[in-house]
Amino acid sequence: MASSISAAAKASTAFAHKKELAAPAPAQHRAGSSRRTKPCRVRAVASPARAPRAPSSTGSVKSAMTMTEKILARASERAALEPGENVWVDVDVLMTHDVCGPGTIGIFKKEFGEDAKVWDREKVVIIPDHYIFTTDERANRNVDILRDFCLEQNIKYFYDIKDLSNFKANPDYKGVCHVALAQEGHCRPGEVLLGTDSHTCNAGAFGQFATGIGNTDAGFVLGTGKALLKVPPTIRFVLDGEMPPYLLAKDLILQIIGEISVSGATYKSMEFVGSTVESLTMEERMTLCNMVIEAGGKNGVVPADETTFKYLEGKTSVDYEPVYSDAQARFFSDYRFDVSKLEPVVAKPHSPDNRALARECKDVKVDRVYIGSCTGGKTEDFLAAAKVFLASGKKVKVPTFLVPATQKVWMDVYSLPVPGSGGKTCSQIFEEAGCDTPASPSCGACLGGPRDTYARMNEPMVCVSTTNRNFPGRMGHKEGQIYLASPYTAAASALTGYVTDPRDFLM
Ligand code: SF4
Repeated sequence: MASSISAAAKASTAFAHKKELAAPAPAQHRAGSSRRTKPCRVRAVASPARAPRAPSSTGSVKSAMTMTEKILARASERAALEPGENVWVDVDVLMTHDVCGPGTIGIFKKEFGEDAKVWDREKVVIIPDHYIFTTDERANRNVDILRDFCLEQNIKYFYDIKDLSNFKANPDYKGVCHVALAQEGHCRPGEVLLGTDSHTCNAGAFGQFATGIGNTDAGFVLGTGKALLKVPPTIRFVLDGEMPPYLLAKDLILQIIGEISVSGATYKSMEFVGSTVESLTMEERMTLCNMVIEAGGKNGVVPADETTFKYLEGKTSVDYEPVYSDAQARFFSDYRFDVSKLEPVVAKPHSPDNRALARECKDVKVDRVYIGSCTGGKTEDFLAAAKVFLASGKKVKVPTFLVPATQKVWMDVYSLPVPGSGGKTCSQIFEEAGCDTPASPSCGACLGGPRDTYARMNEPMVCVSTTNRNFPGRMGHKEGQIYLASPYTAAASALTGYVTDPRDFLM
């Protein structure tokens, strides 16, 4: 694979770190002064010109701050904050699920008492999603524990499932927590959302401070509504240029992680700006932010704009107030990408930063393809896969598993017409292509799960997957090999049985 690495390195010429390869910055990203000891070039990020909501006036913010610093300043009632400070923040939303919920509840009860009440029954969101469609008794018991607790505490947002034989018989059931949080209006600009799941950073797509916490911290939040957080410095990623029609946000984030490594943003905020980011849909922004944890990031953020406000219309009645990085905000470092020059990429086993161009891996034979998860199982991910199948007119050569993230995504797969198809739905196109029938919405095999989990890799296979992690054992068998890819690349690979550049079908 030595040649692969070298070609990938060439592809990264579309990327510019700090000043060396940077294209001239658009006016709204220019200038400032530097402060920190690390290589640090400061550039201002302007608020969207026609934001319908005024930037934060909360607190007397006098010092220039990044949007992450501003959100934490407001949440801790501080006028100004510096990276590295530890502050108590008021939490707007706490999310937990069936894997970490029971442990969190146990800590809450132990520390606050058997009869204690959560700090705010309307700010706790509990979402069974991980190990749902299984006969594993311990997994089923976890959901029962959540249910008992939610009944006891009168939790307002509990997305329950009781009838495992038919998810549609459970109207409250949603599916994968991070997608459900967005669809149900819990992701709001300017707020603090904590969750007992590392991909809680997904919600940063809404201009929210969102990060994963452990059960102990979550138990404390349940009792007090507060968390002690260290303010992260912010790395800014400026993505400009027209997005080629064969790229998706998954390619962008895999490109970035490949560039900075799995520890490149350790305890940093990753702020995504630039004309490309502005052009992304909310689901694509979520894909971008979902994987910041794969670079060690504390959180990811995209400035809220019209796209954000439109997505939120009708989803929440809670007032929210977006914040934006100040013109003179100081960033830890800047990275710049000319997206128009990028190519489809994959992350080879066994690390999300093991980047290679998809075309470099064309000799890698694939046993199966998996399209699902919070990263790659949203409505637009399935529309993207269907587009490739439609363009090819061919059948898949390897088993192709489809796991919609949520009940809403599942319904979209069965109801939304795929553009250019003459009115066919994704499900029709998938059936014609010979894919497996879309499964019940959940985390599915993204995290392996109990042995009877749908599409779990129980054998040492090679899988192209739209999920976010490819560590040994992640999807089941510890010798399984996972190639992380966009839905375009996953669908193209399903059609050939080899890792395949989607341009083979889309151009
Ligand atoms: S889909 Fe995968 S990454 Fe996302 S929350 Fe579920 S197990 Fe975690």
